[in-house]
Amino acid sequence: MRLIILILLVYLGYRALKLWVRQSLTRGDAGAQPTSREIDDIMTKCPACEIYFPRRDGVQHTVGGRDLNFCSSECRDHYLDHHEN
Ligand SMILES: [Zn+2]
Repeated sequence: MRLIILILLVYLGYRALKLWVRQSLTRGDAGAQPTSREIDDIMTKCPACEIYFPRRDGVQHTVGGRDLNFCSSECRDHYLDHHEN
């Protein structure tokens, strides 16, 4: 019975060690490989104020069949005020 407990402890210790090694390796690679979140962050230029911002954080609006991406709804309104016929 004591042998089984010993084997179990060794096994759990081995698993914990493996997990720790994997976590420290993942942490080391984090800087080199882009995460999926970073790939989603496509930088785009706001047509109104001409600053660059992550497209997913912006406001999309279709003008004359073209999809425009604005950094904020204020910029969208400003752009539409000056470009609408
Ligand atoms: Zn803007």
